[in-house]
Amino acid sequence: MTLSLTTLTFAELTARLNSQAVSSVDVTNAFLETIRRDDTSIHAFLHLDAEEALRQAEVVDRKRASGEPLGLLAGIPVAIKDAICTLGQPTTCGSRMLEKFVPPYDAGVITKLRQADAVLIGKTNMDEFAMGSSGENSAYGPTRNPWDLTRIPGGSSSGSAAAVAARMALLSLGSDTGGSIRQPAGLCGIVGLKPTYGRVSRYGLIAYASSLDQIGPFATDVAGASLLLEAISGHDPRDSTSVQQAVPQYSKTFDQPLAGLRIGVPIEHFAEGLDAEVERSVREALAVYRSLGAEIKDVHLPHSKYAIATYYLVATSEASSNLARYDGVHYGHRAEQFGNSLVEMYEASRAEGFGAEVKRRIMLGVFSLSAGYADKYYAKALQVRRLIRQDFDTAFEQVDVIAGPVTPTPAFKMGEKTSDPLAMYLSDIYTISANLAGLPGVSIPCGLSSQQLPIGLQLLAPPFEEERMLRAARMFERETDWNLRRPERR
Ligand code: GLN
Repeated sequence: MTLSLTTLTFAELTARLNSQAVSSVDVTNAFLETIRRDDTSIHAFLHLDAEEALRQAEVVDRKRASGEPLGLLAGIPVAIKDAICTLGQPTTCGSRMLEKFVPPYDAGVITKLRQADAVLIGKTNMDEFAMGSSGENSAYGPTRNPWDLTRIPGGSSSGSAAAVAARMALLSLGSDTGGSIRQPAGLCGIVGLKPTYGRVSRYGLIAYASSLDQIGPFATDVAGASLLLEAISGHDPRDSTSVQQAVPQYSKTFDQPLAGLRIGVPIEHFAEGLDAEVERSVREALAVYRSLGAEIKDVHLPHSKYAIATYYLVATSEASSNLARYDGVHYGHRAEQFGNSLVEMYEASRAEGFGAEVKRRIMLGVFSLSAGYADKYYAKALQVRRLIRQDFDTAFEQVDVIAGPVTPTPAFKMGEKTSDPLAMYLSDIYTISANLAGLPGVSIPCGLSSQQLPIGLQLLAPPFEEERMLRAARMFERETDWNLRRPERR
């Protein structure tokens, strides 16, 4: 009986909690039981503190029983990507470098989740420092896709996506620098949303590429994503890039359809390399919108062919600078054995603490920023970034949202791309531009391949139009049942 609690929708579960038909302790126990049963094979979690989660659940149950006002996510278990700092709980960022790091403070989003009365159920696995598209770059071993354990769940928020897909948490938080929320959401058959840059505080998010990083929600449906987004959004004086703008009440508006919706379909996102089954599902989704009265038209994003190259200059440049702090003194692992000098200590500590992909990124970034090359690479990338943003500005003069595939193929096999970084980088081809342009994007389930693997639809909107994007996403969800499909036995 308790296990079936984990398969309810967001609305069903909150209704049962609100009417006190079930307690948050029951709900938390049900998810913990599922984790104990299934996470040995999936490996979505890096750190669990069942006692602490149940303590938080009890507090909410007591508040509810005594009629105290409750937050937006009262009693709901939420899993947290291990890149987000949690007071007193390990936060490794998927790296040996931070194996022993226990933050002395909560990230801005964690403070907000506590204020919303959520239950923090555990920290999730991820590609080291959020660098990756498959979850295989975690220093603690890969996460597996709950739909097919021989396949990757996507990355870098691999554990957060797999945890929700396998109903080991109702909601989770990830971070998205080039697609790390939308891509694994698409490959795991759930909803994943990257907010507009500046919508959500990055305070306490371990930095990868600061001008691109954004924290966002995973959920099994648009309702859950809307509430979690509302709970974490808003200005934070500790993150100067978080904007001073009122947060719309997504929880109240997401279910309102949009009349006369104009959907732009970028022809560049339907080019070479797109799997035929993915294309078919996405085109069927567009037909559903058409049947709801939406107008579908082609748009052009002519500079999107430069997106991957631009991203791998901007992201690696920022990463090389952000990761300079891991020197074995300020932060992170310190080698036990090194020569005699400080520099040798740095070298040995960084050589031991970082994995191969992180080292590759640091080297690329240092090169693109170095004297004599910065104008050619980093500065050039910034110019192209501007052109990519302008493409979107032009497209959004004609349409309200842009729709297309999230990923070129369904989830690939574990190990299939680990020896070919370029092939791995290409799996973010449709998601990366939104980060370069700072736009919000969401992935929603829109089909299953012949091998029963999830396929996602990506919707993009102009900056700070998450409300419109969620309403458009919900229009599709209401007409179909893709978001109710679950991997077998879960
Ligand atoms: N796969 C991309 C990368 O490795 C994006 C990762 C992310 O969004 N954090 O950089």
